[in-house]
Amino acid sequence: MITIDGSIGEGGGQILRTSLALSLITGKPFRIEKIRAGRRSPGLLRQHLTSVQAAAEIGQANAAGAAIGSQQLTFTPGKIAPGEYHFAIGTAGSTTLVLQTVLPALMTVEGTSRLTLEGGTHNPFAPPFEFLEKAFLPLLKRMGVKVDAKLVNYGFYPAGGGKLDVTIHGTRQLGQMELPTRGEVKRRLAKVVLCHLPRNIAERELNIVQKKLSWPKKWHQVETPTNAIAPGNFVSLEIECEQVTEIFTGFGERNVAAEAVADQAALAARRYLASEAAVGEYLADQLLLPMALAGRGSFTTLPPSRHTITNIEIIKKFLDLPITAEQTNNRVWRIQVGRT
Ligand code: AMP
Repeated sequence: MITIDGSIGEGGGQILRTSLALSLITGKPFRIEKIRAGRRSPGLLRQHLTSVQAAAEIGQANAAGAAIGSQQLTFTPGKIAPGEYHFAIGTAGSTTLVLQTVLPALMTVEGTSRLTLEGGTHNPFAPPFEFLEKAFLPLLKRMGVKVDAKLVNYGFYPAGGGKLDVTIHGTRQLGQMELPTRGEVKRRLAKVVLCHLPRNIAERELNIVQKKLSWPKKWHQVETPTNAIAPGNFVSLEIECEQVTEIFTGFGERNVAAEAVADQAALAARRYLASEAAVGEYLADQLLLPMALAGRGSFTTLPPSRHTITNIEIIKKFLDLPITAEQTNNRVWRIQVGRT
């Protein structure tokens, strides 16, 4: 039985999700204690509990301790069963993080799975739908996994009510991928999405993008969808390069100025553009697991976050695979998964 200390490193939900994903794939049971001890409200919140339940359902597993607030869990996996699944979080908890839990298992078995996920689709501290669609899934495709994701309804914090439809075409052997460089920037897009909110918010946000990044108006886009049960706003900065597309997001919040929302995204985009790294910190987090499942891979990235380092530690608990992070210049690190 593998034992995981949920308080190590950044002590968040990623430790749990990575453990669930790798337990399903390797068939190794694990026990985790101090779940999310590094967070203000430790233990399993609705999103984490849904992730545990989703993992148990697709993997015919037993999850002892799966309850709201629980800080301990013993997970005994069974056989991964591709199929049709519906996971409803019941709050604005992130649907993309529930997907992050079950996707690795479902994408590495033969067969097609169709998932409906309900909850939040654009949450602070989680991958927004656009990141999934434009940045992460195309890289998975390059590794041989086809995943189609459709945003049916937007779900914003705190109301939720969002919905994603995801089809996963599983394959037993993932292809290896090397991402040493991002290549030339081909296209930039600053997109503001406003649901049930005044238009001037978008103008103020795009003004900041123009000021901080010098992105002219022809690269701006405003969308005002109505398929959301409650108001919401975000700024998504898309940088399409030859080898990779990166997305940096600022999430609108009550009592946070529109300028601050755009500023947060612009700052992250500027940091990325100022370096020569292929991927930013969040994409680095997402790529580790598929590369580890492929047995090998590498990419260059910005200085790895505590989150990335913690994720590497957890992957190594389940897989006998070297993963190294080495600085190549003052703004770029190279992450190597597997033996060179
Ligand atoms: P945790 O905080 O441990 O629950 O994990 C959060 C997860 O969401 C990690 O996989 C992060 O890489 C990811 N994440 C957080 N913020 C963003 C963002 N703005 N864009 C993409 N991914 C994100």
